[in-house]
Amino acid sequence: MVRLAQVIVDVPLMQTDKPFSYAVPQDLEDGLALGSRVHVPFGRGDRLVQGFVVGFDEASKDLKVKSIADILDFEPVLNSEQLMLADQMRKKVFSYKISILKAMVPSLLNSQYDKRLIPASSLDVQDQKEIFGSAEDLLFSQLDRERQKAVSRLVQAGKIKVDYLAKDRKTVKTEKHYHVNQETLAAYPISKRAKKRQELKDYLLASPEDGKLTDLHRHFSREISKFFINEGLISIFEVEQSRSAAYFTDIQPQDFLSLNSEQSKIVFEVCGQVGQDSKPFLLEGITGSGKTEVYLHIIDYILKIGKTAIILVPEISLTPQMTNRFISRFGELVAIMHSGLSDGERFDEWRKIKSGQAKVVVGARSAVFAPLKNIGAIIIDEEHEASYKQESNPRYHARDVALLRAKNHQAVLLLGSATPSIESRARASKQVYHFLRLTKRANPKAKIPNVQIVDFRDYVGQQKVSNFTPFLLDKIRDRLSKKEQTVLMLNRRGYSSFVMCRDCGFVDECPNCDISLTLHMDTKTMNCHYCGFTKSIPQTCPNCGSQSIRYYGTGTQKAYNELAEVLPEARILRMDVDTTRKKGAHEKILQEFGRQKADILLGTQMIAKGLDFPNVTLVGVLNADTSLNLPDFRASERTFQLLTQVAGRAGRADKEGEVLIQTYNPGHYAIQMAQKQDYEAFYRYEMSIRHQLGYPPYYYTVGLTLSHKDEETVIRKAYDVLQLLNDHLSKQVKILGPTPKPIARTHSLYHYQILIKYRFEDRMESVLNQILDLTQDRHNKDLRLVIDHEPQNFM
Ligand code: ADP
Ligand code: ZN
Ligand code: ZN
Repeated sequence: MVRLAQVIVDVPLMQTDKPFSYAVPQDLEDGLALGSRVHVPFGRGDRLVQGFVVGFDEASKDLKVKSIADILDFEPVLNSEQLMLADQMRKKVFSYKISILKAMVPSLLNSQYDKRLIPASSLDVQDQKEIFGSAEDLLFSQLDRERQKAVSRLVQAGKIKVDYLAKDRKTVKTEKHYHVNQETLAAYPISKRAKKRQELKDYLLASPEDGKLTDLHRHFSREISKFFINEGLISIFEVEQSRSAAYFTDIQPQDFLSLNSEQSKIVFEVCGQVGQDSKPFLLEGITGSGKTEVYLHIIDYILKIGKTAIILVPEISLTPQMTNRFISRFGELVAIMHSGLSDGERFDEWRKIKSGQAKVVVGARSAVFAPLKNIGAIIIDEEHEASYKQESNPRYHARDVALLRAKNHQAVLLLGSATPSIESRARASKQVYHFLRLTKRANPKAKIPNVQIVDFRDYVGQQKVSNFTPFLLDKIRDRLSKKEQTVLMLNRRGYSSFVMCRDCGFVDECPNCDISLTLHMDTKTMNCHYCGFTKSIPQTCPNCGSQSIRYYGTGTQKAYNELAEVLPEARILRMDVDTTRKKGAHEKILQEFGRQKADILLGTQMIAKGLDFPNVTLVGVLNADTSLNLPDFRASERTFQLLTQVAGRAGRADKEGEVLIQTYNPGHYAIQMAQKQDYEAFYRYEMSIRHQLGYPPYYYTVGLTLSHKDEETVIRKAYDVLQLLNDHLSKQVKILGPTPKPIARTHSLYHYQILIKYRFEDRMESVLNQILDLTQDRHNKDLRLVIDHEPQNFM
């Protein structure tokens, strides 16, 4: 008999979306485990590709199979629960198994390049020499098979701890430290004229402990330290550095607040369900009601009983304010995962989690895959946020993945929001979720802010500046005189600044996408926000040559300029994609505002989430309408959520807060109910509309998007797909389209969409897999097809 390994190879095609069998060579048997990454020969040329081992098997000796070429890791990168999770996800997420598996490991491990792992410095140097020769030999791939086996045996026996260091040094960051060779140094004569050398000698003899070379360089030049190294007075060694260490150094430990009765009831109820099968919890709590404090207490309990926890927050609210709250309570047990990290930093955090050092993972969407063992709780804050849905393959929703993982671990799943998604709130009504509520602000002095609606139409013709009504300006002036702060939000969704010719009406559009170019004054360019195309700002009309070319739209820049003109005394900070492009810029702006270095924070949606500044007493929404008119059935829901969130930034401490919403649609229910901050009323009204129109949560939805560079082809194919759907799905299923997407062309591709609405349909999965297969046909080579279960974005 031969041992076989089932391998999912990194070749994302329908034909390869299944495990392939490979023989396990005898000398690799010890090191290979479920979840290991391997290199295997694949296809006609036997090209080596990367793959994941997902199972084992046995077969008779005469079976002809190829053999695994190499193991890439000492310890598997995926555990059995994660492999099971991938199986479970495949049923709902219409993308290939390999893309799901790859989503679960840091991208650094997914590259096709050779990144073999070597045993870490945790091995005693002496041992290393005895077993393997010099330390440089320790590249696993460079060891001969005998020695590879020896290493594997030691790992299996738990004799050595293996860590993930890759051959490519970029994957680990090291720092140079020095060691003082005391005896040599003491005996070393230094000439009288070399004053600095003598100083260093004295210094090192006085404090002979090992230290960082950079610290030494603060006081002594590189030249001098080099001299000491060359003379053997100090020796240099490299220490691996955690790239996230900086997060943890400056944060003061903080005590837990004692909970109010509403909060403690919730903590008690949730913690009582840990370790058994339980329904998810939905926590609906108004802004500032102390949800985060509840999360912290639950996690504290989870750690006390020896389990681990994941807390997901939207990318945009992974601000230092938020992460610091976790670090200040749980210190080094926290791992932080967000998109601002470099590949290397992500890899470090992943290793911290995998090794068991980190037990609390705070992160954005993909942190739901964190390789924690023994999970006790998964918490999703702001559970309504659209960013929990990944908009590229694999198109998973973090909420669905969390639900699966919670089941696998018998962990509790807690979804929290001031404005839950309509779907989640409906599930709570149907007792699919436990429903929990926090109805008052946690700080007894903080009151719910008073919200006023300002009808833009009343001020037409009276305004000096287009973004601000005199009413709002007066309120801002009032805050300036009281030395209180103001937050202003420009709702940018569906908006852009563009250039139009007043004579011929020409609008400058992207040559690759059917969308106008956005004006960026900071770089003096016109940019396409879809494909990245840029050009300089036209001085005359490219179409008719006229000079009457004008800039339109209300970017944050324009609003900033207007505000600076009418309130020259105000110190204004601007926060939008342009001012936060640089790493750390986001944090810096918030820090400055927190230190009251500015009176006004003007920004896009970015400022609506999570900010907690006690001196903010006025929040202004410049344009509530823009997100209302989007061709998306969730437009009202999103607008309501955004307005409620941003209103929650006012009056969070002792001083009373006020909110002004400028709008052209004061009668719209989303705006009316945001004014009352009445989520429950909004929920009931929205449900009646969803019911009438047959949208979620009354129906499930699947979106199909077909893209091709030739419009005729994509239309033809879309009708082929429609035919297939009509032929194979039952008559109760409603099919809308094909229609061009609201932005019909991007990246020089035409996009058409079909929306399927259904309540029960046994054949859905098989029909969709059949359609996915269609694009594998060689006649459809250039056709792109996306199947999106419960699409969140219709633009
Ligand atoms: P949410 O996450 O619901 O917006 P937070 O947990 O951020 O609410 O709490 C809002 C404010 O109230 C914070 O400043 C927090 O420190 C404070 N807070 C929360 N819980 C309590 C409590 N039990 N006692 C006193 N203050 C609290
Ligand atoms: Zn023109
Ligand atoms: Zn473009």
